Amino acid sequence: MLEFVLSYLFMKMVDVIIVGAGPAGLSVALHLIRQDPGWAQRLLVLEKTAHPRHKLCGGGMTRLGLQVLKDLGFALPLPLPQAPVEDIRLVYRKRTLHVRGKPQFVVFHRMELDAYLAAETRRRGVRICENEALKDFQVDADGVTLETERQIYRAQVLVGADGSKGLLRAYFNRMERRSRTARLLETLQAAQAEASHYRERYALFDFTPADHELQGYFWDFPAYIQGQPFFNRGIYDARMVRARPKAALPALLHQELDDLQSDAGEIQGHPIHWFSPRGRFSLPRLLLVGDAAGVDPLFGEGIAPALAYGLPAAQAIAEALARRDFSFRDYRRRIMSAPVGRYLLLRWAVAWSCYRLSFFPWFMHFIWSLGGALAALFPAPGQLYPDHRGLYGKEANPADQ
Ligand SMILES: Cc1cc2nc3c(=O)[nH]c(=O)nc-3n(C[C@H](O)[C@H](O)[C@H](O)COP(=O)(O)OP(=O)(O)OC[C@H]3O[C@@H](n4cnc5c(N)ncnc54)[C@H](O)[C@@H]3O)c2cc1C
Repeated sequence: MLEFVLSYLFMKMVDVIIVGAGPAGLSVALHLIRQDPGWAQRLLVLEKTAHPRHKLCGGGMTRLGLQVLKDLGFALPLPLPQAPVEDIRLVYRKRTLHVRGKPQFVVFHRMELDAYLAAETRRRGVRICENEALKDFQVDADGVTLETERQIYRAQVLVGADGSKGLLRAYFNRMERRSRTARLLETLQAAQAEASHYRERYALFDFTPADHELQGYFWDFPAYIQGQPFFNRGIYDARMVRARPKAALPALLHQELDDLQSDAGEIQGHPIHWFSPRGRFSLPRLLLVGDAAGVDPLFGEGIAPALAYGLPAAQAIAEALARRDFSFRDYRRRIMSAPVGRYLLLRWAVAWSCYRLSFFPWFMHFIWSLGGALAALFPAPGQLYPDHRGLYGKEANPADQ
């Protein structure tokens, strides 16, 4: 009792509290201090673990995310081991579509990427309280009271960047009529640096399991973990069309791995909450970003969208504090008119229409023909930054020799 009374007496006041130091939460902080370095004194990031922390993820960051980092003043390529992908191979049965770009995306090890982003955010003056989980919160007319395992805080605004399974997401779920959760399984296998993925800089998205009710694909990415080459492989099921039977994910993943003559290794799973224009993104004094708000339902891409949510969220927060209006009524409009909203709306529309028909082989063949025509019509995007040697692992990429 005494402890409880004391914690209220020594309650910490701060304007903005961001829950979660993943790409979404860090990006909100970075966007705020880019607007005005004075924000560093007015915000706090709470993180229940400590970086470097485990995060199940394919680690593929597309050009949208790289561009956000560039806009935030990061020099590209980031000084981390990374596998650049310049040829995305979209496979259905025996047909392959190539989507090229320099790079189309870059594969990072999430533990290393997030630790680097957190260190950089801290270096720019933001306080990140690690090993401090949000346990509960209450919103009232004058602010938000937050309870962590260590401290009671009082804030003007609470930002939910705590992922698909976080407290904030669960709070909003109670108000939503339907679940928007994709299922993913992932496994890692040691690779040889001379494997064709590294030489040819390609990544594979195989949609053939759509024949077995999968609303998604099997992926096979090159990756570096602490400088060593690995294959990051897994299976994504958007489950957008709930009326269809559920795909047997473990069996499909094992089938794909058997075809590659690869051991399954340890398989882990995690959900993703996907974006819908009908979703709820805010309540008075509460904002969601990243997985908590919803990411791409077509591919399950979340790193770049998480980073890109930072801009509309930071703008909404700055304006709310300036006008003392914490309703966040216009947050949805801000998201939709920002690059992240346009990106996610397009992915949602394609996923919504395609995953309704993807179990018809004729439809998949039609899409592959259409995709081939579009790929021939539109040139590959230009080089995002100069190619760089020596960043690909402990040894230089054999493709650069
Ligand atoms: C198997 C798998 C593969 C994937 N592959 C890719 C890929 O290749 N490319 C891609 O773009 N996306 C991929 N994704 C999606 C991507 O990982 C997420 O979309 C992305 O991590 C979202 O970032 P975020 O910052 O919103 O959430 P997170 O990265 O999940 O960060 C949330 C943070 O909040 C913290 N937290 C949670 N609860 C609390 C609490 N109560 N108090 C304090 N802190 C808390 C967590 O510890 C965590 O650090 C994949 C996902 C899975 C599951």
